[in-house]
Amino acid sequence: MSTTHEVINPSTEQSIRSVQHANVQETDAIIATAAAAAPAWAAVAPADRGRLLRRFADVVDGHIDELADLEIENAGHTRGNATWEAGNVRDVLHYYAAAPERLCGRQIPVAGGIDLTFHEPLGVVGIIVPWNFPMPVAGWGFAPALAAGNTVVLKPAELTPFTALRLAELALEAGLPEGVFNVVPGEGSVVGERFVTHPDVRKVCFTGSTAVGKRIMAQASNDLTRVTLELGGKNANIVFDDCDIAAAAAAAPGAVFDNAGQDCCARSRILVQRSVFDRFMELLEPAVHAVRVADPSLAADTDMGPLISSAQRDRVRGFVEEADVDIALRGLAPDGAGWWYPPTVVLPRGVDDPVWRDEVFGPVVAVLPFDDEADAIAKANDTAYGLAGSIWTDNLGRGLRVARGVRAGNLSVNSHSAVRYSTPFGGFKSSGLGRELGPDALAAFTETKNVFIRTEH
Ligand code: NDP
Repeated sequence: MSTTHEVINPSTEQSIRSVQHANVQETDAIIATAAAAAPAWAAVAPADRGRLLRRFADVVDGHIDELADLEIENAGHTRGNATWEAGNVRDVLHYYAAAPERLCGRQIPVAGGIDLTFHEPLGVVGIIVPWNFPMPVAGWGFAPALAAGNTVVLKPAELTPFTALRLAELALEAGLPEGVFNVVPGEGSVVGERFVTHPDVRKVCFTGSTAVGKRIMAQASNDLTRVTLELGGKNANIVFDDCDIAAAAAAAPGAVFDNAGQDCCARSRILVQRSVFDRFMELLEPAVHAVRVADPSLAADTDMGPLISSAQRDRVRGFVEEADVDIALRGLAPDGAGWWYPPTVVLPRGVDDPVWRDEVFGPVVAVLPFDDEADAIAKANDTAYGLAGSIWTDNLGRGLRVARGVRAGNLSVNSHSAVRYSTPFGGFKSSGLGRELGPDALAAFTETKNVFIRTEH
């Protein structure tokens, strides 16, 4: 029996509307639809497939404000972020719309004939999306999957289904054939798990917690289903004494409090060289107090909205209120309805404190000093995760050395660069497996076929 799920606005705790959740039988039926649509979609001429994806991008572009409004209400995202996120779906579609005509195989010199390679679609791709960035994470999966000739089944998070459902309607409006891009709302343990265990789903792209990612990888082994896993992060923001300290302090709050810290790339550990530690903390204070926390649907200049759920706020509180840490600085947050939590800077007692080691996924940043370059790299790497990080220094050689020394997939020097659709994104260690975005992501949505043609008798 399918069930109905009430979706809540995290800024007000009011119900938005309910969504029908698919059960296993309904999920199977949609997977069957996607599998039936796959051969015809794979056979669409490359230029036509590209044209359809460009049209999809254009339709998304015509609905940026509507999609942003949905995300502001459903996820508490700020207007600036929600608008960027909808625009990111458009841009990723445009980027991969060029791919069908460039999915070139090779001709490899061999004796006795001609050897050719082809990049063939996998079939049905399952995409499991978390609640923190519903639109971008969906697009990073479905745009390259569709471009490579696969059909898609996509499960949004229970908490944030609305933009995915709207994108599926916009895909049809753009002319994508029925059954090519399917959104299946439902529970992770029902719909998500069925994507992983269904033999017709040949690849699963998952973004979420490391615990669920490991389970998915284990289950996927039954049918050797391909997986891409984008998991958590505990990213270091390393501030050397030779950098522009004022710039580093001004940028630090945005790097961790953006999206209320619910970001796998959040720079939630700040490492500051001991000689400038006090100066950095002095400069950090006004920057933290300047973060405007409010209901984003009421104030367009909000910097930070609420947490996604009361469970998430309880989890965040556990790292601060119920732990043995010193609160160094704290911003303001609204009282009353809404899952608010103020931007918070803590001083852990040491590197074993949970707030230093675990992914908080909230607006909490921990700060510790380091002594020299080697100590900074060792402390940055002393984590199970390896997703992102930043290095602040005016020494180019040091910037590159430390970027190469930190075991993480995405480093930036003198900035906290956001994910770019044209460059690869993904994690080392427990942060995941595989890379999304950039020129090489398509390879993960295809199988390489090798064909030898004998030309000599
Ligand atoms: P989950 O990993 O549980 O959820 C992510 C997605 O996976 C959701 O769509 C969820 O469905 C689905 N899912 C859950 N269980 C299964 C399963 N057994 N098989 C297939 N899919 C499943 O994350 P949470 O929402 O529970 O968040 C917990 C913590 O995870 C956060 O505090 C944060 O630390 C981390 N996280 C990291 C993210 C990242 O970007 N790397 C994103 C989200 C969370 P459902 O909608 O039912 O939950």
